[in-house]
Amino acid sequence: MPETSSCIANRCFHSVEGVVATCPRCGSPMWPSPRWRARGWVLLVNGLLLTALTVAVLWYLVGLYRAYEAETDSDASDSAFGMLIFFGSVGLFLVVGLASAVAGARQIATGRRNRTGAMIVFWLLAAFFIVMSVLMIVSGGDAPHPVPRIR
Ligand SMILES: [Zn+2]
Repeated sequence: MPETSSCIANRCFHSVEGVVATCPRCGSPMWPSPRWRARGWVLLVNGLLLTALTVAVLWYLVGLYRAYEAETDSDASDSAFGMLIFFGSVGLFLVVGLASAVAGARQIATGRRNRTGAMIVFWLLAAFFIVMSVLMIVSGGDAPHPVPRIR
């Protein structure tokens, strides 16, 4: 596979054949494909770890809800909206992990910087923090509740 170099600038992402130190388009430094592959592995491993961690947290929370339902003989429907929001935001985090892993895998395969993957991960993360911030503001810093209140 021929060596390529990709620009590190976030507004550029330009790729050229061969090992080139400076981007011909914008003048920023360029990294050769082995370095982008190494970064791809970091993305892939972090993405998989994040995904596994999120699944573990979800699993744990579902268990808490089940236990709560069994204990109180209710379906916790009074907090259904809070539950939806909470699991929704955790689910968004899961998608961030998966997208990061896919972007890393593609970067390892191509040795080039993956613009689409980087953008998707960036906007998903942004969406996650926006959703969380709005929830914090709306709820006065009190939500989302991972666990229903025990009466
Ligand atoms: Zn450039």
